[in-house]
Amino acid sequence: MSKFLIDRYSSLDPYVPGEQPQDRKYIKLNTNESPYPPSPEAVAAIDEDAVRGLRLYSDPECRTVTKAIAEYYGVKSTEVIVGNGSDEILAFVYAAFCDDKRKLASPEISYGFYPVFGELIGVKNYVIQLKKDYSLDVDAFVNCPDNVIFANPNAQTGIAITLADVERIVSARTDRLVVVDEAYVDFGAESAVALTRKYDNLIVVQTFSKSRSLAGARLGFAIASEALISDLKAVKFSFNPYNVNRLTETLGAKAIRDKEWFEVNRKKIISTREYTFAALEDLGFEVLPSMANFLLARSDKIGGEKLYLALKERGVLVRYFSSPALSDFVRITIGSRYEMEILIKEIKDIITGA
Ligand code: PMP
Repeated sequence: MSKFLIDRYSSLDPYVPGEQPQDRKYIKLNTNESPYPPSPEAVAAIDEDAVRGLRLYSDPECRTVTKAIAEYYGVKSTEVIVGNGSDEILAFVYAAFCDDKRKLASPEISYGFYPVFGELIGVKNYVIQLKKDYSLDVDAFVNCPDNVIFANPNAQTGIAITLADVERIVSARTDRLVVVDEAYVDFGAESAVALTRKYDNLIVVQTFSKSRSLAGARLGFAIASEALISDLKAVKFSFNPYNVNRLTETLGAKAIRDKEWFEVNRKKIISTREYTFAALEDLGFEVLPSMANFLLARSDKIGGEKLYLALKERGVLVRYFSSPALSDFVRITIGSRYEMEILIKEIKDIITGA
C-alpha cells in the first residue's frame, strides 16, 4: 500500500476473479464463460474498416447496440443503458442508489462483487441468509425494508426463483429498489424484463458474457424505467462517457440480432448441464439444481479444495471458494460435451484413486 491511499480504502478487500492462467492449456471450467465462439455474423462485422474506425471515440450514447437491445426486448432505447460488462452497470447501480441511508441487501451466498461494490463506495455489506436448501428466501426479500439486489439464477448456487416470486418481491414495497442480476437467465430461468413495464422500482441487469459468448468484449446492460436509466446515465457520464468501445458495440448489436446462434448454443449448454448433473450424481455428488451455465457440487468422498487441486493437476480448472459456506463445494462451468466427459472421467479417477 502506498502512503497516498485514502483511509477509507486502507482495508479494501478487492474481488478476486477466477484464474485466467497463461502457463499451460487447461480445460477451463472456472469462470462461467461459454465454450462456443461468438456469433459468426458478429465476428464478420469486425473487418478492416471497423478496426480503422478506432481512431474515433465510441458513441457515448451507444445508440447502435442500445437500439438493438431495446428492439430485442420490446422496450424503448431510453429504458436501456449499456456498460463495460455488467460489472460496470452494477457499479453504477451502487454509486447511484446506495449510501448509509439507502442500503442494498443481497443474499448471503451470491455474486462476490456485491459486497465489494458496497465497500468501495463506503456502504456496509448487508446480507439476507439463504434457506437450508440454498435457495433464495423469497419471504425475507419480500419483507426486507431496504433496497435489494439478487442474481436470478443466483450466483454460485445456480438456483432460480420463479417470475411470480420476483414480482412478489418487486410489488411488496414499491418505495424500494429491486435489482435483479440476470447474468445467467438465458440458461433456463424466467426474465423479469417484462416487469419493468409495470414497476418503476425494478432494474434488470444482463450481460453478453455468458449466453452470447462475449465475455472478453465486456458488454452488459440494464433495463428499467426512463427515470432510473437516466440516473444511471448521470453516473456513467460522470465517470467514463466512452465506456463501451467501438468494436464491442458492433459485436453486441450483431450478436443480439443473431437469434439462431444464441438458441443453438444455449440449448447445447442446457443439455450438457443435464448430462453433467446426472453424471456427477452417479458419482455420489450432491449437485444443486442449477438453471445457470454452471453446477455447484460436493461429495463426502473429497473436500472442495482437494478436488479443485487434484483436477488442476490433471489440467481441468474449476472454481473453489474458501468461504466457510462454500468450502465443501466446487463450482463447475458447463463446457462442451467433450470437456465435460473428460471432467467426469478425471473426477472418477480422483475419487477411486486411479
Ligand atoms: N453478475 C453475476 C451474477 C456474475 O456471475 C457475473 C460474472 N462473473 C457478472 C454479473 C459480471 O459479468 P460481466 O461483467 O462479464 O458482464
